Amino acid sequence: MAKQLLGKEVNAQLNEQIKAETAALRERGITPTLGIVRVGEREDDLSYERGAVKRCETLGIAYKKYVLPADAAQEDVLAVIGEVNTDAQVHGVLLFRPLPKHLDEEEIIHALSPQKDVDGITDGSLAGVFAGKALGYAPCTPSACMEILKHYGIDPAGKKCVVVGRSLVVGKPAAMMLLQKNGTVTICHTGTKDMPSVVREADIVIVAAGRAGVVDGSFLRAGQVVIDVGINVGADGKLCGDVKYDEAEPLVEAITPVPGGVGSVTTSVLLSHVVQAAKAQNAEMLDTFMAK
Ligand code: NAP
Repeated sequence: MAKQLLGKEVNAQLNEQIKAETAALRERGITPTLGIVRVGEREDDLSYERGAVKRCETLGIAYKKYVLPADAAQEDVLAVIGEVNTDAQVHGVLLFRPLPKHLDEEEIIHALSPQKDVDGITDGSLAGVFAGKALGYAPCTPSACMEILKHYGIDPAGKKCVVVGRSLVVGKPAAMMLLQKNGTVTICHTGTKDMPSVVREADIVIVAAGRAGVVDGSFLRAGQVVIDVGINVGADGKLCGDVKYDEAEPLVEAITPVPGGVGSVTTSVLLSHVVQAAKAQNAEMLDTFMAK
């Protein structure tokens, strides 16, 4: 039976830290605040938003919602981005994507101030991940995968790591983060030949394909650590990952469940970035306070 790598166990430690730092900032008159920008009413966006809002409330972080209709014009969305960029009370922004197809997502993303890009979506933030430098904030989901590994003492150094998926949101940055930790990394995608044998070689597998059950028992073996990023709705209407959990769990050493794994840690990482952003945007004032 595999060890379950549970989001709630990782979050317990992360959230204590966020709560303490938020309380310390509030004492100095700074309330870390997340701006939530949503265009339309997609159910997956609403579900993530509900989770983020609840967590903000638990941790003492404030939030401001900016909601536009699904048919909002490009200028209207850009105007909201301009507003959050200049609002000194908003320290970080969560922009739900994908945006409706009629919008130019690239232009909207790049209108966002890099200092407020706590979700790591601008080119500057991604450049930091790819250059291995502390530029901006790293994308939250691959960071959550790394937090899970760190929490359970799983060090990628010297290990064979396989990432399934090469999106800029998850797969590519996850591969770069594993490389940064001295893992030997292979990335799989739809053009990969004989994916089962490539994945079987890995000590650590991160799966972010967005296809329910794309990794089944034939890809896996004893001793592997499996991080399942996928969030899908299965044929039975229930949430499921990209890994066939029932086939994987008896085989591998450790695995994240879906739900209950990566997703909730992603929210913690996002909110820890909001706290960091609040500190960075008030660094001068905090330095003065510390000097007193
Ligand atoms: P995406 O943009 O659709 O990218 C999927 C990637 O997987 C692509 O690179 C694609 O390859 C690859 N892929 C798809 N089917 C494959 C297959 N059969 N074999 C090998 N590779 C395959 O998705 P994403 O945004 O990265 O998200 C991936 C999953 O993570 C989704 O289920 C999403 O809901 C979930 N997610 C979870 C969180 C969280 O917090 N837990 C956050 C974000 C996303 P090609 O490049 O060749 O097309």
